[in-house]
Amino acid sequence: MIPFLDLKATYTELKDELDAAYERTLSSGWYILGEEVEAFEADWARYCGAKYCIGVGNGLDALHLIVRAMDISAGEEVIVPSNTYIATWLAISYAGATAIPVEPDPRTYNLDPDRIEAAITSRTRAIMPVHLYGQPADMDAINDIAQRHQLKVIEDAAQAHGARYKGRSVGSLGDAAGWSFYPGKNLGAIGDGGAITTNDAGLAEKVRMLRNYGSRVKYYNEVKGYNSRLDPLQAAFLGVKLRHLEEWNARRQIIVQQYFAGLSRLPNLVVPYVPEWAKPVWHLFVVRHPQRDALQQHLQAAEIGTLIHYPVPPHLSQAYQETSWPEGSFPLAEQLAQSVLSLPMGPHLSPGACEVVIDEVARFATTPQPTVA
Ligand SMILES: *Cc1c(COP(=O)(O)O)cnc(C)c1O
Repeated sequence: MIPFLDLKATYTELKDELDAAYERTLSSGWYILGEEVEAFEADWARYCGAKYCIGVGNGLDALHLIVRAMDISAGEEVIVPSNTYIATWLAISYAGATAIPVEPDPRTYNLDPDRIEAAITSRTRAIMPVHLYGQPADMDAINDIAQRHQLKVIEDAAQAHGARYKGRSVGSLGDAAGWSFYPGKNLGAIGDGGAITTNDAGLAEKVRMLRNYGSRVKYYNEVKGYNSRLDPLQAAFLGVKLRHLEEWNARRQIIVQQYFAGLSRLPNLVVPYVPEWAKPVWHLFVVRHPQRDALQQHLQAAEIGTLIHYPVPPHLSQAYQETSWPEGSFPLAEQLAQSVLSLPMGPHLSPGACEVVIDEVARFATTPQPTVA
C-alpha cells in the first residue's frame, strides 16, 4: 500500500526532538501563549522575511483575522480564486464581506492577473491570491493591480511554506499572509495551528489583539475579539519541524523530478506547469486526466492512495448555495474540479514507491479507455 501521505513517518523521523519539545513544554507549567509561542513566531517571521508573526489557532482563523483587522466588512468585496479550498472564501464570509471569484490561469491554476480588473468594483477592498498546491501566484502583477486600485493584498499561503517568487519568500509579498499548520501541510503541527505574517506594525498589533479576546491588557477588552491562539505545545513542535522544512521540501523536489521524468509525455495526462520565476514547494503534485475518476479507481485497485483537490469548487458547494453563481459561471474552476488528481507526495515517499505510482499511471494512460457515453 502506498499512502497519499505518510504522516506517521514525520513523527518517527523526528521522535527524539519532538519528544524533547513535548517534555519541555509540559514541564514548563505555562500552557497558553508565552515563550514557546513567541520563539516560534520569531523563527517563522525570520524564515518568511517578514517583520511580524502572530500565531493563531488555524489557517482559516489566520485569514479571517487579517480580514477583520483590515476592517473589511458587510457590503465590501474581496477577490478570490474560483478554484481554491473553501477556507479562502469562508474567511471573507465570516467577516460579513463577499468573496468575488476570479478564474485561474489554466496552466498554473493560480489567480489569473489578466482577469482581476474586470472583477473590481467600487466595493472591492482586497485581493486574496492563493499559492495553490505550493506554487506562488504571480505577485508582482497582482500587487500592481492592487496599487492602481488602492486594494490590500492578502496571501493565502496555507499550501506554500518555503515557496519563492522571483527569489523572495511568500508570506512577505503582500500586506499580510495567512498560514495553516494543519498536519498535512509542508510545515505541519501535530494538531491545528496557524499564523499571520506581515510587515505592517499596525495590522500585527490588531491581529494580536483580535486573537486574544480583543485585549492587549488582560481583562481590558478594546474590541469584540476571538479566542484563537497558537497552542504552545504546537509551537514547540513547529519549532522542531521548521528546522527540517528546507530539507523536506528538497526531498519533495526530488520526487517531483522523478514524476516529471516518468509522466511528462503520456497521452491525455497533464502534468504541472512551473513558470520560470516560480520555486514551488510541491505541497501537492496534481495531474489532470479526462478520465480522472477511472484513473483514481485504477490507482486505488493498485493500492495507491490519491486525493482530489478539490472535487467541488466553492461557488457550487452547498455552503454557498445562496450566491448567484449557477453551474457554468466559472468553467475553468469547474473543469479543474472534474479533472484534477493529486498523486502521493511527501518527504517520506520513497523512490521505489514513486516508480510504482509512475508505472501504474502510465499503464492507465497508455491503455485505451472505453469512451464514456
Ligand atoms: C489548509 C488551507 C486553509 C485552512 O487551514 P486550516 O488550518 O485547515 O484552517 C486555507 N487555505 C488553503 C488554501 C488551505 O489549503
